[in-house]
Amino acid sequence: MPATRSVRNPRELKLADFLRLEQEVARLKAENKELASSNDWLDEELAMSRNTIVELMDIRGLLDGYRGLDDHSDLTAWRAKAVERVVNAADPKPALQMGDFGHGERALCPLCRGSASSPSVRGFAFPEGLRRHLLGSHTPHQCEVFAAADKSIIRRIRAKVVRMGGA
Ligand SMILES: [Zn+2]
Repeated sequence: MPATRSVRNPRELKLADFLRLEQEVARLKAENKELASSNDWLDEELAMSRNTIVELMDIRGLLDGYRGLDDHSDLTAWRAKAVERVVNAADPKPALQMGDFGHGERALCPLCRGSASSPSVRGFAFPEGLRRHLLGSHTPHQCEVFAAADKSIIRRIRAKVVRMGGA
């Protein structure tokens, strides 16, 4: 006759584990919901801050038309028009006047009043350097003001894609 040992019924153990897991899942679900709602709130805050940056800095309305766009082709069309408006609003001066010994002209960014990284040279090579500054191409530092409008369109495009279930 085999020795009987006092062990708990394995079924009871499993049920207890299951209940504990179920509680843990419920807790994680609640936590996740909380994080999602605080993430939504932060996302809204960021969107408002971007609008504020554009409102404060773009006094001439050069970036107008960016609100409400949620389509990639709209983004491309808006970018092209906005870049041309900003370039046309710039005040290019001979490079020498801007501290550069090169040829051609340079201009400050009409949106952020920024210059390329060199401390002694003012503005951006006009017009291509200014264009690159606005679009953030070939440079690690995109114009913060242009980017605020740009990113708010990108956010709406992403939100639309999520709503459509990743389609
Ligand atoms: Zn700028």
